[in-house]
This record gives sequence, C-alpha cells and structure tokens, in this order.
Amino acid sequence: MDIINILPDSVANQIAAGEVVDRPASAVKELLENAIDAGATHIDLVVKDAGRTLIQVIDNGCGMSDSDARLCFERHATSKIHHADDLFAIRTMGFRGEALASIAAIAQVELRTRLHDAELGTEIAIEGSKIIDQHPTACPIGTSLAVKNLFFNVPARRAFLKRDSVEMAHIEETFRRVTLTHPDIAFSLSAGGRTLYDLAAGSMLQRISSLFADSYKERLFPVEEVTDLVRIKGFVARPEFSRRSRGEQYLFVDGRFIKHPGLSRAVEKAYSSLIPDGNYPSYFISLQVDPSRIDINIHPAKTEVKFADESALYAILHSAVKKALGQFSLATELSFDTPPEFNIPPAPKGYNPPPPSISYNPDYNPFRATPSQTRMKLEPSDDNHAAVHRHLQPLPNSTQPLPEEPSIPEPINHGSGQASSCLQLQGRYIVTPLSSGLAIIDQHRAHQRILFDRLADAGPQHTPSQALLFPIQCHFSAADADLFGELLPDLLSYGFAIESTGQSTFVVTATPPDVDTNNLQNFFDMMITDCKGASMRSGGLISDTVRASLARQMAIRPGRVLTDEEMQQMVADLFACPMADTAPDGRPIITIVKPEQLLK
Ligand code: ADP
Ligand code: MG
Repeated sequence: MDIINILPDSVANQIAAGEVVDRPASAVKELLENAIDAGATHIDLVVKDAGRTLIQVIDNGCGMSDSDARLCFERHATSKIHHADDLFAIRTMGFRGEALASIAAIAQVELRTRLHDAELGTEIAIEGSKIIDQHPTACPIGTSLAVKNLFFNVPARRAFLKRDSVEMAHIEETFRRVTLTHPDIAFSLSAGGRTLYDLAAGSMLQRISSLFADSYKERLFPVEEVTDLVRIKGFVARPEFSRRSRGEQYLFVDGRFIKHPGLSRAVEKAYSSLIPDGNYPSYFISLQVDPSRIDINIHPAKTEVKFADESALYAILHSAVKKALGQFSLATELSFDTPPEFNIPPAPKGYNPPPPSISYNPDYNPFRATPSQTRMKLEPSDDNHAAVHRHLQPLPNSTQPLPEEPSIPEPINHGSGQASSCLQLQGRYIVTPLSSGLAIIDQHRAHQRILFDRLADAGPQHTPSQALLFPIQCHFSAADADLFGELLPDLLSYGFAIESTGQSTFVVTATPPDVDTNNLQNFFDMMITDCKGASMRSGGLISDTVRASLARQMAIRPGRVLTDEEMQQMVADLFACPMADTAPDGRPIITIVKPEQLLK
C-alpha cells in the first residue's frame, strides 16, 4: 500500500510560514524589507492591536505589474535572484521568495500596487493562500500590503503570542533594526492611530537620535575604518553609558541586522578596561563586506551570517573601536571612575555660583541620613556609630526571618565600630573580615541592593523629594513617551515630581535626594531601555524594573573612593538587607575567602 502523498501547497506554505513568521514582528520585518528592496524613499508602517489585527506597509517603491501581483504570493517567487550563483552576490534584503507566500498562508492579505508608468494599479485579496479577488484599481504609485488577522487559521500559533505590550516591543525593535541602517529612507510607525515614530531621511546619527533620544548625539563616538576587506561606519557609546544588558547593540552587515557573538566580542573587548564587569557597551555599527565573502543563507530569519574572513574582521573591528575610544580617552577618563571629590557638576544654565566658602559644610557625610533623606535610608537614626554597632553584631537568627539564610554571611562584632575593619580594594571592593572568612564586597552592587530595598520600604506617603532649583525638561520619542507615561506613577511614588506638557515632553520639578540631576535625560532614557528589555524578556513587573533601574543609577560607581566610615555604614546597611548576597539583577555581591583558603 502506498502511504506517501504530496502535501497541497496551502499546507506546505503553512508549514514554511512557521519558519518565516513566528510573530507579528517577523511579518513586519519581511514587509519593510520588501519595501526597501522596491527602492522606496518613504515607507509607512501601520499596526493595530500589536499586529494581531493589522500590519500594513505602504511604500512609494517600484510597484508590481498585474501578473507579478498574483505571482508574488507563490512559493519561491522572487525577482531578486535567478541563478544559484546569484546567492553569492546578494545586495537585496530578501531573496528567498518565501515571505509573501508564507504570510498569505496564515492571514488575510490585501495588496494594492501600481507601477510608475501604469495608469491603474491592481488590487488583490488573498486568504489562507487562496486568491479571492483581483481587480484593477486607482491607487498611488508603489505598494500597500495589509496583513489582517495574522494566524487566523492557525489557532495554535495565535495562542503562543504574548501580551500586546510584548508583541509591540518586538515590532518596535524590528522597526529600529530596519530603520537604523536605512537612514536615507523616511519611515513612520503608527499604532492604534497614534504616530510613534516619524523619521525623516537624514544621517545615521540623526536616525539614532530620532529613534532613541536627542541626548544620544552627545553619548556617541564615531567609528570609521576602511580596509580592502571591510568598510566600518557607525557609533559606539561612551563607556559611562554602558548598560546591564546587551539590548542596545546593533551590528549590521550590508544593511542587515545580524547577531554575531564573535564580532560583538570584538567590540566589547575594546571596552574591557573601561566599563565594569557585567556591563555592556551600546553600539551602532555597520559593516560593508563584499557579498561573495559572506553567507547569509544559514537561517530563515537571516540574523545569522558566516564570514569567510572572520578573524581578520574581528581584528579590524576591534582596533577600529579601540581607536575611536582612544581618540576620546581624555573625555572618557574625566567622566568615568573619577572620585566624586573632583566631579564638579556643571551648573544649570544661567546659574551664578555663589563663592564656595558659603556653602561649605565640614561635617557633611553623604552616607548619613539627613532629614530630607531619612525615609529613603533604612536607618531612622542619625547616629551612625550606633547603627554600625548594631548591624555589625552577628545577625540574630531570632529577629528576622531570612529567606536566604544559609547564604548570608555573618559579620563579626568589631566592638565599638570605631576601629577600621574595612579595606577598599581597587576602588571597587570592600574587604572585611567575617566569622566565616574574608568577605570581598562589590561596592556598586552592594549599594544597589541597599537602595533597592530602601525604595521598596519608602511608601508613597513617605516619599522624600527635593525640589529642583530649575525645572528640567526631558524629551522622548513618541513611543518612549508612552512608556514613560506608564512609569510615571512609580516615579512619583519614589519622590519625583514630573508633569507631562503634552506630546512627548515632560518637566521634572523634583527628584529623590540621591539622584544626579545633571543628567536626568540619560537617567530616564536608560530606565526606559531597561523596561523595554524587561518586558521583552519576561514580561517582568514594571515597578520592579523601575526600582532596580533607579537603584542602579543612584548607586555609587565602581572607582569611588570610600572613607572608613562610609565602608562600615555600607557593610552594616548591606547586612540589614534580607538578600544581602545578591544584587537586584541577580548578580552576586559578596565573595567569601574561607580561612582554609587563607591558610594556603
Ligand atoms: P523575496 O523578497 O525574498 O524576493 P517575497 O516573498 O518577500 O520574496 O516577495 C516576492 C516578490 O514580490 C519580490 O521578489 C518582489 O519582486 C515582489 N514584491 C514584494 N513586495 C514588494 C513591494 N513592496 N514592492 C514591489 N515588489 C514587491
Ligand atoms: Mg521579501
């Protein structure tokens, strides 16, 4: 008995669709790339319900003839390659001829398209691979392709979609990846009737700043290198704008966003002595390589590539980034790892500084709770010695249930707390003896943990807040402004006073006392990026992310020289936290060198 049958095209297309389109964002990518390949200079993306009900791309590119408009939905229908040899000289974004066939298999698609020299265009409706209507129509030059009710006939796929905010975050990320390498094309993105991005054609730097924030112009160093093998062009962020995640690393090859761990390492290595461990530099780097020297054919989503000259590329990229960072090394040194004593913030515009003697306070201790900070600090008391003394007692097992009890080291009692029992190492670590050995504490992470817990304790009714002398304006892209709006209730409860002035501008009139107000825009930009990352990764709680982000940015930096008193306070505050051994982002804070190891 014969048991093999050939699957009908509609089934084959649905199966293939699973590879090409796994969520709305991947359909967005394919449609945007088609519009770019069609030579458009203006491309609009419209989505509804995070792409579930509508993804529409409208371009002013070359358009299609009547019969091409039918043919483009066939599998292996492409105008971009003709021979297998062409695969080694690809200069277009697409070439597989799979995308439209796949999309048409799992959605209701409406195509309207008109060639430049044609009087009329053509309109086609196709549903689950079946053409249900085609007729001539009056329409603008170019192509409009609307994808409705994605996965309408694949309920299993639909069930795997995440919340709208997550799917929308993916769409925006796709939009950024595509638009970043095509700054010469104007793009817009609107969602649910609101324009989130309206990007004019311009330079790459203009594109970056209109996608992210204006402040990015000051954050970036240009990278440029031309060799026989590769042309490198782009921007790398100054080391102090490094991040806790790799979310802002954009590497493009011949106009295509790619993921390449090797080349990413080449960039990251150039930063190795400039940023703390576990932080990652932001970069936007375009490589142009001879298409015959790369293979982009290994993954349907085409974010992975293979290079023929990988090690040479690695070396060139590494040295180009190093050179860019080196050229600006003075700026780098001044703004990073500088003890705060010399870090005099610039005064707000128009502010005449009074003579220094007037405001000098010899008793000032940034670690001591001042009246305005009292509720931010764990210690209600002003008396540091008492606090240190109390916390340096071995942690009593009876008073507090400790969720991670066994892993929390017990500090030994140093008696009065006056004697210096802490030592700072490399400006980054506090070394202190415990009953279980010698503790090496990462000061930046420790402070993050302390602040994170304090922020949790500070309820809305106990919000410390410090009015700004001059209100500060912050601007965001429309999409970021939306997200920022969602963060506002949390920010207000942590002591910020922020008002929206309509559109995408916010005015900050007060902040919690520990926030560096000289760079609020960056502060918020980073928080927004953190929240986007968190919602894409896990749909994590926004308020936890805001709190972790606040704590990280308020925490003292590695390189900050600490006094004995400050170190003791820090150790005491840390051990009062229920999860003293782990930073809010999960990284370890303490390493213990055991007595046996010391003996060796
Ligand atoms: P590929 O892009 O790999 O060729 P697609 O399925 O994405 O495959 O598209 C099939 C063909 O349809 C393209 O090769 C192109 O000729 C045509 N096409 C698709 N989108 C557009 C568009 N926006 N404007 C003009 N032609 C298009
Ligand atoms: Mg395509």
